[in-house]
Amino acid sequence: MTERMVVNIPVVVHVVWNSSVENISNEQILSQIDVLNEDFSAGNIQIGGIPAIFQALIADVGFHFCLASKDPSGNSTTGITRTQTSNNIGIGGTSAIHHSSQGGHDAWNPDKYLNIWVAKFAGGIGGVGSFPGEGPADEQGIEINYKQFGTFGTATNPPYHLGRTCTHEVGHYFNLNHLWGPSANSCCNEDDGVADTPVSCEDYLSECPSGTTFSCTAPDMWMNFMNYTDDACMAMFSLGQKLRMYDALNNFRAGLLNSDGCQAVATEEQAVGTELRILGNPVRAQLNLEIRSQTGSPWKLELVNMLGIPVFCEAKMANAPVSIDCQPFPRGIYFLVASQNETRIVKRVILI
Ligand SMILES: [Zn+2]
Repeated sequence: MTERMVVNIPVVVHVVWNSSVENISNEQILSQIDVLNEDFSAGNIQIGGIPAIFQALIADVGFHFCLASKDPSGNSTTGITRTQTSNNIGIGGTSAIHHSSQGGHDAWNPDKYLNIWVAKFAGGIGGVGSFPGEGPADEQGIEINYKQFGTFGTATNPPYHLGRTCTHEVGHYFNLNHLWGPSANSCCNEDDGVADTPVSCEDYLSECPSGTTFSCTAPDMWMNFMNYTDDACMAMFSLGQKLRMYDALNNFRAGLLNSDGCQAVATEEQAVGTELRILGNPVRAQLNLEIRSQTGSPWKLELVNMLGIPVFCEAKMANAPVSIDCQPFPRGIYFLVASQNETRIVKRVILI
């Protein structure tokens, strides 16, 4: 078995909000990072439904997205910034969102971080992604409508409720075109520059096809992330798209390869020793963990599902092993939230 190659992509999410509903939770942001990691590793559940003719073209892109742990100054960070803006029309999709002086938030060095801005958009636009070399250097990154970012919270309206808007825009960021090509109206006469994605014309906006469909001569790869297909019906990047993305990474975004944005920073908090340790993750039946803390008072432990609903909640003592029986809970992604006074630690748990 050959070793799987993985490239870490440090991500900073800039939440630029006007009304408080737009100030989405950390958990919602994490759910989007999870979707990116599934989609760029051929790890999503929709893959099973891909027609047989395209199965051999499914790419494990090998990008691993991590919320930055180190900011551009070398300080510890959550990888999330939050800015209240006075723009109540929708700062998303405007140049202003990239600039603190204009009510948005300045990019972190785009050579070292993938900048993702989340905000309200005027009109129905779901997101925007900059192609390599497109637009000013300090505006490189992607912007996503807060209603389409992540998989719960404000992102609960089908068909854009499974985080695929962001997957699609990250595709553009790494130089992928739509399957029908760079122009909107050159049906079957233009290609996307990728050999193994069939020439097509249909964008599949608000559609969820099944089986074999045609818009030009070869069957359409309608489940490709670079169409406009419903979130629930997208499933894959192709091997050719993977090559094109690595070409963009190596030639236009190579700084990401040397970024230390996801390396840990030694902090005072860590020195004090407050830590939530999960012993074995993914979890099969028993979730075993330990909270290390200097204070002896109990911690509130919650296991929260992707809808934000706690399925388990109990007070537990620190510095002693804790075991939670997870067999009653459906398989999937959860967040383990440990809180004590002002301190809150969140870890992702996968039940398999
Ligand atoms: Zn697009």
